[in-house]
Amino acid sequence: MKELHQVFEDVFGYLGALLEEDLLPEPLSLLYQLPVIYISSALSPAITKTGGPYPFFTKFIFNNSFNASAYDADPGGLVCIHSSVPLLLYNACMQFASKCNVYTALPMENDGQLVLFKKPTLIPGRLALASEQIENLIQLYDEIQSSITLSGIEEETFQYGLFLYESAIRFVVMHECMHIILGHTTYARKSFGIKLFMEVSEERESHLPHHIGQVLEFLADRNTAAGVVAQALEGNTFHTYGQELPSLLQIDRQTFLTRSVVNAICILFHLFPYNLKLPLNNTVVRTHPHPYVRMQWINRAIGSITGKDAFTEAVVRPFGYTMATLARNFTTPNSWLMANSENFQDESVAFSDKSYEQVSLLAKELQAQLWTHAPVYNNTNE
Ligand SMILES: [Zn+2]
Repeated sequence: MKELHQVFEDVFGYLGALLEEDLLPEPLSLLYQLPVIYISSALSPAITKTGGPYPFFTKFIFNNSFNASAYDADPGGLVCIHSSVPLLLYNACMQFASKCNVYTALPMENDGQLVLFKKPTLIPGRLALASEQIENLIQLYDEIQSSITLSGIEEETFQYGLFLYESAIRFVVMHECMHIILGHTTYARKSFGIKLFMEVSEERESHLPHHIGQVLEFLADRNTAAGVVAQALEGNTFHTYGQELPSLLQIDRQTFLTRSVVNAICILFHLFPYNLKLPLNNTVVRTHPHPYVRMQWINRAIGSITGKDAFTEAVVRPFGYTMATLARNFTTPNSWLMANSENFQDESVAFSDKSYEQVSLLAKELQAQLWTHAPVYNNTNE
């Protein structure tokens, strides 16, 4: 049987050059190794229906069309991430952290008022801007590091940025795994002829009915967000925050960790929402719900872990402040100030928070079918 890395080359190789992340210098290489190690060893293993192991393999490629993609191969699951995603995400998390209060895990505020900085910080997120050479990744990393050093970032802030990065990149890879584990990739292939399940692609836009595509996102997001929060609370993180928190913390552990994951996902969703082949201002992606709506659904899923009493402080407050600071103190690729007009302009193809009941009902029905395609995620064997 073929090794997974060989299968990966067969499946994704034609789309672009593979990044050899081991050739990156440390500590840059660590940013790339983190999601790889996470998927292959920190997640509980999945098993096939006959009880054999179902391994996952993650790698990065240079390409001009998608951020992330999933494929269910016979020997295991493949997750393919655009080479610039870890670096751009790292940059965004560090810039965000530099305008946060680490001890409350909230953007800087004063008596409840968000602190507004004189000039918004630009956070790039357009993948097409990332070039196709490993040298350019190294150069971009050096530029990010020197801007962080110049800003005189403190150690605690840097550590907070790292934790945000870990949470966000975990979300990215686990979301792709979820599409495989929940049977979405097989279903899309068998029912709609979609060979590669890419997050944003013309094939998916034209072949997969939009309401089904959005329900698949809802399912993957919900399971991923709950998983990332639960793991952080269990102490299953690479970052030391899993075990030990900043000493001057002004909030309890659960609130700190949950707020941080909410912030991280919110940052991620401001970065990579669009189809690169179309100009930003006239693209409304129908394969995915608007990121603002996705975030609301994710918050509900996280709320099932925090419980009702802690929900406002652990989820709603960071969500509100983080959206506000990203809109006012940063310039991000996806501005949520337009969220309402974009999201509600065509109710027949896009779900909204109004139709939460509708999407969860459809998700429930669809997932029952999808399980028949899925490898088994063995959550309880450890
Ligand atoms: Zn997805």
